[in-house]
Amino acid sequence: MSKALDSFLSRNLDELKSKGLYNEIDVLEGANGPKITIRGRQLINLSSNNYLGLANDARLKAAAVEATEKYGVGAGAVRTINGTMDIHTELEKKLARFKGTEAAIVFQSGFNCNMGAISAVMTKNDAILSDELNHASIIDGCRLSGAKIIRVKHQDMEDLREKAKEAKLSGLYEKIMYISDGVFSMDGDVANIPGIVEVCKEQDLISYIDDAHGSGVMGHGAGTVKHFGHAKDIDFQMGTLSKAIGVVGGYVAGSQDLIDWLKVRARPFLFSTSLTPANAAACMEAIRIMEEDGSLHDKLWENGRFLKAELKKLGFNIGNSETPITPVIIGEETLTQKFSRRLIEEGVYAKSIVFPTVPMGTGRVRNMPTAAHSREMLEEALRIYERVGKELGVI
Ligand SMILES: *Cc1c(COP(=O)(O)O)cnc(C)c1O
Repeated sequence: MSKALDSFLSRNLDELKSKGLYNEIDVLEGANGPKITIRGRQLINLSSNNYLGLANDARLKAAAVEATEKYGVGAGAVRTINGTMDIHTELEKKLARFKGTEAAIVFQSGFNCNMGAISAVMTKNDAILSDELNHASIIDGCRLSGAKIIRVKHQDMEDLREKAKEAKLSGLYEKIMYISDGVFSMDGDVANIPGIVEVCKEQDLISYIDDAHGSGVMGHGAGTVKHFGHAKDIDFQMGTLSKAIGVVGGYVAGSQDLIDWLKVRARPFLFSTSLTPANAAACMEAIRIMEEDGSLHDKLWENGRFLKAELKKLGFNIGNSETPITPVIIGEETLTQKFSRRLIEEGVYAKSIVFPTVPMGTGRVRNMPTAAHSREMLEEALRIYERVGKELGVI
């Protein structure tokens, strides 16, 4: 190994380890579901993004197996060479219909979708107004585009309006975009889509909503934008196929022209092999289920409401989430980490999230109830929460 690399790695790894910041990854022995097995122990899982429980759904598994039998395990090429199979275009048509747009384009992940889609449209001659709490993939996608990045105060429409006006008046930029998460995953708050549409229309901004945590959850599954009835007003409805949809992949739904452009300019689409046939088929089955049957969606919200109400009754600070995402805000960083560790020891897998992912002093244990949790599992989790909360003096 190069001496420079060796010293870089050992210096930085040692520093992380000495500060207790080195993350040891837990390995699941089996499927990701409402219960998971780690080191031989069964735990109630409150940490996945598998909102509807579809990651291990029998119908999706059957669709994946059937597609594998018919099409094989790999697509064999990037989309533009000969890696576009009929199931890829069918998935895109279904997504567009579900989202209420003319067309859609599918990528291999939500992360690379943001990397590809933002930089296909925005250049160094442009500016991007970006909510200060946006996801890492948005931040990286914006950086890659070379556009000027202007941070906007979280969910502050007046700040957005002022900064948009200022950017326009400067005359420095050809195009200006506003980009925001649809649902913010740390607090569970929902983007003000009507407010965003108003300012974007008024200031002629390109609008981009990353609905990774809203797809499958908001708008009866179709997402935050459709929830507010603005499918035709938001230019980019970006989402992921790896959270509520339960599989893997990302997409943008929008106008036919936008999608045509992304198909010739988005680099992960052009230079990285397409979704496997099993992925594409399983995603289509997930959309079919969401369109035909609202019961998983309803169960998710019922479980979310139950968990929130009961945690609040116990005396925990659960913040102001508007979605099933349920943070339990502990505050101090080491106490938060200890709280999560004790929960895991007692049988609840709920991870701590601390600075720098969230502001200093707002450490939290984040709970993600899903449609697959039974009432008994949540009641058991609540009993453990009560015990650990009292033990550590949080309640
Ligand atoms: C998870 C997430 C992504 C990345 O999605 P993947 O499909 O897991 O790559 C992008 N944006 C937001 C807001 C997310 O929460």
